Amino acid sequence: MFSSFPEKVNIVEVGPRDGLQSESNFVSTENKIKLIDMLSQTGLPTIEVTAFVHPKWSPKLADSYEVATSINKLENVNYTALIPNLKGLERAISSDLKEVAISFSASESHSKKNLNRSIDETFEVVEETIKQAKANNIKTRAYLSTVFGCPYEGNISIDKVTKIVKKLLSFGAYQISLGDTIGIGNPKQVQKILTEIFKVIDNKEQIALHFHDTRGLGLANSIVGLSMGITTFDSSIGGLGGCQYAPGASGNISTEDLVNMLHSMGIKTGVDLNKLVECNFFMRDILGKELNSKYAKAYVASHKISV
Ligand SMILES: [Zn+2]
Repeated sequence: MFSSFPEKVNIVEVGPRDGLQSESNFVSTENKIKLIDMLSQTGLPTIEVTAFVHPKWSPKLADSYEVATSINKLENVNYTALIPNLKGLERAISSDLKEVAISFSASESHSKKNLNRSIDETFEVVEETIKQAKANNIKTRAYLSTVFGCPYEGNISIDKVTKIVKKLLSFGAYQISLGDTIGIGNPKQVQKILTEIFKVIDNKEQIALHFHDTRGLGLANSIVGLSMGITTFDSSIGGLGGCQYAPGASGNISTEDLVNMLHSMGIKTGVDLNKLVECNFFMRDILGKELNSKYAKAYVASHKISV
């Protein structure tokens, strides 16, 4: 199993978007910018900085344009934002982003609640959005949420998932991030789903994994992905996150814990773990609570830092 692990893993930091959109406290624009600028210094290759959605749907990210245009964009970091449609793409373009992430749901009910559209309607919107993004030299990644289970529909058929993956890739998305939106997936299921998906894709780099740690299985699920050749994982600083339209969802796997696990197995990420811990402490102080990172907690204990 371990011999098939990759030498290097790409981490997509989603804390400023996936995390902050569902935090109960509004984080000020100034602090969001500061967090992203700190994350830029850690060596993370990609940071999802915000979501260009209507503030009615995502009030915690109502300052998306100001955040995306005020951060200090470094040459070696890829900055991206979640968009639902062409309007979001326009805002991403005017914010000078080179990449966007478009959301798609594998569940009809989750799609209607989350995107306000059926799956078929979303296909049309996504196809047009990716086309326009390409015309503007912007890369598109797609999130496929509720792959491992839906809060409204329960199990989602693997056949349905593979069909959607195929279609999104044919529209021109360069990568599909498979989301365990409510953190209900298990390692065996990860193996089963990836096995089927690998039959319909050209190369494994077209697939990324996005685990929420609601039931504590995020890293175990990631190990299965690693052993099967997945090299891109989404995570969020301090395990911030959830899904405001998926009741019971908790944060993503924590970036610190993921990086620590990878580094301790000799897998490179290019990320400075100590700098990540500083980002964790920054957010901990702003939110006034300990975040969901075991590594950061152990760091505090071993350094006898009072919280
Ligand atoms: Zn998520």
